[in-house]
Amino acid sequence: MEETYRVKAVVLYRSSFGENNTIVTIYTTEKGKLELIARGTKKSKSKLAAHLEPITLVDVMVVRGKKYDYIGSAISENCYFDLKNSLEKIKAAGEVIRILNLIVKTGDCDKEIFELLISYFDFLNSAKEELNYDLFVQLFVFKLLIKLGHRPELYYCVSCHSKILPLSNKFDLSKGGIICVKCFSQLEKKYQLIISENSIKILRLAIENDFKQLANISVNKDIKKEIINIINSFFKYNFN
Ligand SMILES: [Zn+2]
Repeated sequence: MEETYRVKAVVLYRSSFGENNTIVTIYTTEKGKLELIARGTKKSKSKLAAHLEPITLVDVMVVRGKKYDYIGSAISENCYFDLKNSLEKIKAAGEVIRILNLIVKTGDCDKEIFELLISYFDFLNSAKEELNYDLFVQLFVFKLLIKLGHRPELYYCVSCHSKILPLSNKFDLSKGGIICVKCFSQLEKKYQLIISENSIKILRLAIENDFKQLANISVNKDIKKEIINIINSFFKYNFN
């Protein structure tokens, strides 16, 4: 008898494998990232293929094989229909998948990251079209960094530990948080980025609030640019 197991998963990627098969990369609650073979999914009549589109929440039955594990069956639980109807939303979901795929290794398991991904797709699915997509990709990255143990210090100076005041402050990438005016170098420093009081407020809110709540906060163009740059730089500093 073949050994099988079931997993709840998000489909991340799909690529060709042989003449009729595909390799499906999924992220699961129990086993992290997995690469599985889906047989016959390149045939036009494949029912299985329809359930294995990227950006789909699926219930998968996996069959253990000698060389590869196979997908025995898959039933989609949520195909995020509204998300897939918008190019902007597909792009915002695809970018997050790309980043997640980059840092999560096969087999790495983290239930909280799975839930973060699902909450992001749910949010995108119901979000208004005019959403600030670039900002929300980075807010996902910010929350991901926190789950991976890189929660930045936003209340006390990373050098002297005194309370951060609404004066001029910087974000120190190497020390992982805000550095006060008394401590940062006046010289231009590669690892220290200027951070405004408003950006500090948004980042603090981003830790405590979910995506839906964050979408209700208005962020002006300059602040948006600053936040995107800080999160992106902080991510690259930790994962390059
Ligand atoms: Zn200080």
